[in-house]
Amino acid sequence: MAHSPPGKHERSGVSLMDLMRLFPDEESARAWFEASKWPTGRYCPRCGSTNTHEAKHAKSPYRCRDCKKYFSVRTGSLMEGSNVPLLKWVFAIYLEATSLKGISSMKLHRDIDVTQKTAWFMLHRIREAWATSKNANFTGPAEADETYMGGLRKNMPKSKRKELFGQGRAGKVAVAGVKDRATNQVSAEVVEGTDRLTLQFFIEDRVINGAKVYTDEASAYKDMPYFEHEAVKHGAGEYVRGDVHTNGIESFWSMLKRAHKGTFHKISEKHLNRYIQQFAGKHNMRALDTIRQMQSIVAGMVGRRLRYPDLIR
Ligand SMILES: [Zn+2]
Repeated sequence: MAHSPPGKHERSGVSLMDLMRLFPDEESARAWFEASKWPTGRYCPRCGSTNTHEAKHAKSPYRCRDCKKYFSVRTGSLMEGSNVPLLKWVFAIYLEATSLKGISSMKLHRDIDVTQKTAWFMLHRIREAWATSKNANFTGPAEADETYMGGLRKNMPKSKRKELFGQGRAGKVAVAGVKDRATNQVSAEVVEGTDRLTLQFFIEDRVINGAKVYTDEASAYKDMPYFEHEAVKHGAGEYVRGDVHTNGIESFWSMLKRAHKGTFHKISEKHLNRYIQQFAGKHNMRALDTIRQMQSIVAGMVGRRLRYPDLIR
């Protein structure tokens, strides 16, 4: 059942032992976060000025000469406001990056000695960083498909269910996805429904005009004016017709659903989209070296905020 992702053998991995040698203390973690966040030199996260200097300030060791404010590598990123040592953030990012299905807050809580609540919040912020871009520019051929996730909450009032799930199939959440064969990249997200407008807008946002797009024969994919569209007739038992198939995006769905059943028994519908983005992000980065994956996560943390009240609301 465990598949080796393509490129795994050529990719340079980092073992836990390597990680402990690379990051012996908090200072080494800070230096790494700074180098990852500011590869071309430190700048002020508030005004963008590069005119900054070191300052004697315990939590914010730099100061901007232009806006006169103090800052640290956490300022203006998903780590802002977190008191968790940077060394623990390094280990959390490593564990999340190297786990094929993602790790649970219970495991992170045990592995890095933080409370489960803190671990839960850290993982949400790491996942937020790993979110895939909505402005993908897939050149195709691209495979597009939709699926349903989640289940009916039996004890939930009908009105609440409708509010949470929208107009999905029997209380399930609709998810649209597209996979670009040229780059092997996937983009997927929770959508309001599986009607023609929703699904076709989803594809148009991600695939360039004139590209080849392959789908199944669902009526939502009929008449796509912007693409060279072909469909396989699943209903007639046809799954592959030459290049025309949706096997790539379908195998992404099965990976997503296996992980959904396995690691996260209770992904709440509210957070489902963030998990889906995380899986697409993992898929899109799986050929990179471990350290490059970790650096991509750090880069994705810059310029974003996710506050605790936003998560529990
Ligand atoms: Zn400034």
